[in-house]
Amino acid sequence: MTDLKFTPEKRLLIDGQLVAAESGKEFDNINPANEEVLGGVADASAADMQRAIRAARRAFDETDWSTNHAFRAKCLLQLQDALVAETEEIREELIAEVGSPRMVTHLAQLDGPLADGLRWPAEQIASFPWIKDMGVAEMFGMKSHREIRKEAMGVVGAIVPWNYPFEVTINKIAQILATGNTTVLKPAPDTPWNATRLGRLVAEKTDIPAGVFNVVTSSDHLVGEELTLSPLVDLISFTGSTVTGKRIMEKGAATLKRVFLELGGKSAMIVLDDADLQAVVPMGAAVCMHAGQGCAMQTRMLLPRSRYEEGVELIKMGMSFVPYGDPQDPANMMGPLVSQKQRDRVLGYIQKGVDEGATLVMGGGKPAHLPKGWFVEPTLFIDVDNSMTIAREEIFGPVLTVMPYDDDDHAIRIANDSNYGLSGSVFGSHERAMNVAARIRTGSIGVNGGVWYGADMPYGGYKDSGIGRQNGIEGFEQYLETKILAYPAG
Ligand code: NAD
Repeated sequence: MTDLKFTPEKRLLIDGQLVAAESGKEFDNINPANEEVLGGVADASAADMQRAIRAARRAFDETDWSTNHAFRAKCLLQLQDALVAETEEIREELIAEVGSPRMVTHLAQLDGPLADGLRWPAEQIASFPWIKDMGVAEMFGMKSHREIRKEAMGVVGAIVPWNYPFEVTINKIAQILATGNTTVLKPAPDTPWNATRLGRLVAEKTDIPAGVFNVVTSSDHLVGEELTLSPLVDLISFTGSTVTGKRIMEKGAATLKRVFLELGGKSAMIVLDDADLQAVVPMGAAVCMHAGQGCAMQTRMLLPRSRYEEGVELIKMGMSFVPYGDPQDPANMMGPLVSQKQRDRVLGYIQKGVDEGATLVMGGGKPAHLPKGWFVEPTLFIDVDNSMTIAREEIFGPVLTVMPYDDDDHAIRIANDSNYGLSGSVFGSHERAMNVAARIRTGSIGVNGGVWYGADMPYGGYKDSGIGRQNGIEGFEQYLETKILAYPAG
């Protein structure tokens, strides 16, 4: 085991208790940058998951958590303080278990969501219109006073991926709890400790009642499926791959599960012919940030045919300057892939790109100078056709595909010719770029570098990129049921 600059939590949180798995089993947490075992974590079974689900159900049905707004706000701010107090430990933990570059922990991996992910929904509790007075109306000969009430959905299964685990978890948990739900959090097996730490902080540093928040880690994905199948769970809030999202919908149908799905993407970066190519095109190398393991990555770069050669030279230069290697090094923007499985998957896609006739101009393999760790070189394909597999499927690695287009309409057609619709960007003169952005079928889009991310901004996907929104009031309301109520008007 390597020297750790943090104290990991191995235990599950079930019904207010930090406990080992019933079987006593643990599984290894591995450092993707050197393939060494960092330590262990509880390996829960279906029985552990069922106990957690029952605890969450009981806490929802038998405590005043769902109706005591002021208490909930207080608890969320306690959790915020507890997380802030351990910020640097969390940073080291994320670098170790996710392989996240330190640089990225100062952005969306940690500092971004830590600043307002919990605070913003906690603050909404006081101002949110939980009861809307609809006044008196006469219907069927009777005058009634009417209200629309917003109430917590119930028990939420929160299922999280490994790429930005803290960010996804905090944004989910904050909204789930702020709206009065109870929950079972199921992190990805690759990155369990940030979730078990959250469990310990909830248990030890907050007044959140037993059972309101539970954490179950497991090496077995099907332990997560217990949440989808359980009649005691009202909603699944899932972030992960589109394949798993579809399976959750299918398996959840039997219990008419509400589903909120944040899935994959294949976003386009459109460079218009009046853009400042020198300034803009090298930014396409941002696809390598965190080794491309981001759902909103701009993995398809569309260049105007009239300036294609110039653009290709600029993106080659941008990609050649990507600093990568040890995630501990603050200068690196790219570390390893999270697992050997992911690296093999990415290398498989690269091979497919070559086989299908795209031109590989940079990278494409394992970096020779990094023999340990699951690294892939920054990889650039040009002359890509949008029908090729590398342009259609989410690779989730440091791979950029570049393709030419003829005019704005053509660029829009290519961008929209995708099963996904999660994100995107447009660069060019303001009005023209705004018009193009308005025609892209996607849940988020940046124009000339505008940043849409924030706790108050509802993020999510069109098409196969998901259903529902994370963050913002739209995200908040997603965790609420609507009840209409009427009584005789006096
Ligand atoms: P994944 O779908 O393999 O796993 C995600 C989570 O689901 C893990 O916790 C896993 O254990 C669990 N899981 C797997 N099978 C399950 C099942 N049958 N029932 C219930 N739970 C199950 O995804 P991943 O590889 O961990 O994450 C990468 C994917 O996540 C990418 O596709 C990426 O685009 C997506 N993602 C999307 C967003 C977004 O906001 N849209 C954000 C981050 C990641």
